[in-house]
Amino acid sequence: MPRYELEHDRERDGLDADWYGNNAAFRCPYCHKVFIVSGYLENGERPCLNPNCGRSIGRCIGGRESGGTASLEW
Ligand SMILES: [Zn+2]
Repeated sequence: MPRYELEHDRERDGLDADWYGNNAAFRCPYCHKVFIVSGYLENGERPCLNPNCGRSIGRCIGGRESGGTASLEW
């Protein structure tokens, strides 16, 4: 699976994503729906919410300002 990791204060081209505090938002590369992952819920891991998709997995571990990581796998 390709994996994309948001880095502090720098975002790579090609993926719509945002990371604020302990929450990250990703656009699923398959169905193009946006979903939010909270570092406080579900162990910081959540699949694409589209019931017909669910193929990508977003992760948000810790906070952006506290050395955490946010990533998307698809
Ligand atoms: Zn999807």
